[in-house]
Amino acid sequence: MDLYELLRQTEGTGINVYTHGEMLPSHAYPELRKFKHLAGNYGGAWQEQKKEFNAFSGAILVTTNCVLIPPDGTYLDRLFTAGITGIPGARHIIGKDFKVLIEKAKSLPPLPESSGNRIMTGFHHTAILGIADKIIDAVKAGKIRRFFLIGGCDGAKPGRNYYTELAESVPKDCIILTLACGKYRFNKLDFGEIEGIPRLIDIGQCNNAYSAIQVALALAGAFKCSVNELPLSIILSWFEQKAVAILLTLLYLGVKGIRIGPTPPAFITQNVFKVIQENYGLKLITTPEKDLAEILK
Ligand code: SF4
Repeated sequence: MDLYELLRQTEGTGINVYTHGEMLPSHAYPELRKFKHLAGNYGGAWQEQKKEFNAFSGAILVTTNCVLIPPDGTYLDRLFTAGITGIPGARHIIGKDFKVLIEKAKSLPPLPESSGNRIMTGFHHTAILGIADKIIDAVKAGKIRRFFLIGGCDGAKPGRNYYTELAESVPKDCIILTLACGKYRFNKLDFGEIEGIPRLIDIGQCNNAYSAIQVALALAGAFKCSVNELPLSIILSWFEQKAVAILLTLLYLGVKGIRIGPTPPAFITQNVFKVIQENYGLKLITTPEKDLAEILK
């Protein structure tokens, strides 16, 4: 794993390592947490990269997708790629020898002081299912009315404030499950707790949609019902192919009543949308007020 190897090679060098955006869950992995110089998570969703990488004073290593090409070559001299990622003009690291990156990092100024926020991460499905009894009791006692899964990709086009407004408007007796980089719009807000259970549960990256499905299946098992009968609403923001693959997986599993936005994926022509709507109740988002009223009625 690139991050583990990088932490190993930078240990004791005085270099601090920060993850960016969707690498946030790394801070919950016990083997990574052992490294005290894994200093924090910097920045948010992919579309902020150009601004954030410009402001970040150190060397940057990118290893996977959702990477932007630096505008006018800014920060290109301190941008490195590894694995499957390649950016024209950036140095590519072959294998796991990060010497060249480490030398570059040593030559650069430290990060400007910033107070930052403390947020909770690490709610892999095994962690959530570890407190399943508590969650089930709270649902049975009427303390938790409904679960909202609000997540997916983020993007720069207008209309995505919907997800922030929706999360803020979710009633206090409901839990918000989130994942992927859409969450950076609201994951630093204080949503409080219900009976010691955080109201905002960050399941992780876009890839952790699998965890969300496992949680839904486990809850359905506990309540002896189908996923579609759970007090669960799924509201997705989509941007690219991975999110579309996740949507198709949910449809394949027979999950109904999903809301998606801010615009329909390009492959959803009117006819396709009609078929999915008729068979799966797929809806486009409208406004947070209207959608919430419909979900909670
Ligand atoms: S959530 Fe979507 S946009 Fe964000 S990193 Fe994952 S695939 Fe990329």
